[in-house]
Amino acid sequence: MRQITYAPSKYIQGEGELDRLGTYCAQMEAGEAYAIIDPYIVSVYGEEIRSSFAAGGVALEEREFQGECSFAQVEEIVSELYLERVGVILGIGGGKTLDTAKAVSHYAGLPVILVPTVASTDAPCSRVAVLYFEDGRFDRYLSLRRSPDVVVADTGLIAKAPVRLLAAGMGDALSTYFEARACRESGAVTEAGGLGSIAAFSLARACYDTLITDGAAALEDVRQGRVSDQVAHIVEANIYLSGIGFESGGLAAAHAIHNGLTILEECRHILHGEKVAFATLAQLMLEQAPEEELAAVAGFCREAGLPVTLAQLGLADIAPEQLLAAAEASCAEGGPMKNMPFTVTPQDVYAAMLAADRRGQQAG
Ligand SMILES: [Zn+2]
Repeated sequence: MRQITYAPSKYIQGEGELDRLGTYCAQMEAGEAYAIIDPYIVSVYGEEIRSSFAAGGVALEEREFQGECSFAQVEEIVSELYLERVGVILGIGGGKTLDTAKAVSHYAGLPVILVPTVASTDAPCSRVAVLYFEDGRFDRYLSLRRSPDVVVADTGLIAKAPVRLLAAGMGDALSTYFEARACRESGAVTEAGGLGSIAAFSLARACYDTLITDGAAALEDVRQGRVSDQVAHIVEANIYLSGIGFESGGLAAAHAIHNGLTILEECRHILHGEKVAFATLAQLMLEQAPEEELAAVAGFCREAGLPVTLAQLGLADIAPEQLLAAAEASCAEGGPMKNMPFTVTPQDVYAAMLAADRRGQQAG
């Protein structure tokens, strides 16, 4: 079986990178730029972005992202593009804006530059876009022809986003090493379509080590408005290390359990990475991981304000049959639970979630 590793062609990270977008587009010599941007970013940074393109000598057409990242919207944008002039697509904003830009670039056959303005998940570096229907229901995963051409993370911008979003990104990144480790043990086929590579596994490990070393300090710095080295390390861990680590290292029980939890109305308000944090602890319970590892993960979550109990997920009064239904959903056919190195039943997941909850309630 072959191994496959995907990564963006270029990953750029630094403070004030928003001001250099025009230069990066000029370097691509691709023609005019078409940017899909979050309305909030337009209102606060619109002038900055426009002057960056003026300085780079690249014409810029802007479109504010509204509604859903849906196939209908993507199709509409592609049909409006002046393909004889536009040579590069940009996405500047949160997950749905970036996914829209990815999908537009895919269907228009153009390169894409992604500028995440939050570090709340590890999706920006992946070659997958999640499409929804206009009413918000999940539609499908769209596999792109290739990984994003350029990902630009402006640490100054990301540090100004609400601290809960950075913490959620740390929760999403927390699972990456443990899921890649499970896939390596089982020989699972990863999201990249092959076996996990040494490269992806090493980045997943570096991701975990970075979170443990710098996570707490980074959150404190962001609260104080400082863009420190620790903040930069966590941005890299959340976006790049975790991004390559999950896509080419593989997903397993943590994301499977996350997916199961999404059926519960009671935890709709909990962010992706927050659910993944609890689900990581539950995966370790399934694996009967050593106490030292449980303590490290539970302690990390507690320090970062990530949920480690059912109550913190909004599930304090959950009926056993509802939790069992989520456990069943986490073992759905074709989902990442199959990547575990042993058979996992819904009953096992149910017991692991209760064990994680008990462990989460303990101090230390
Ligand atoms: Zn995730």
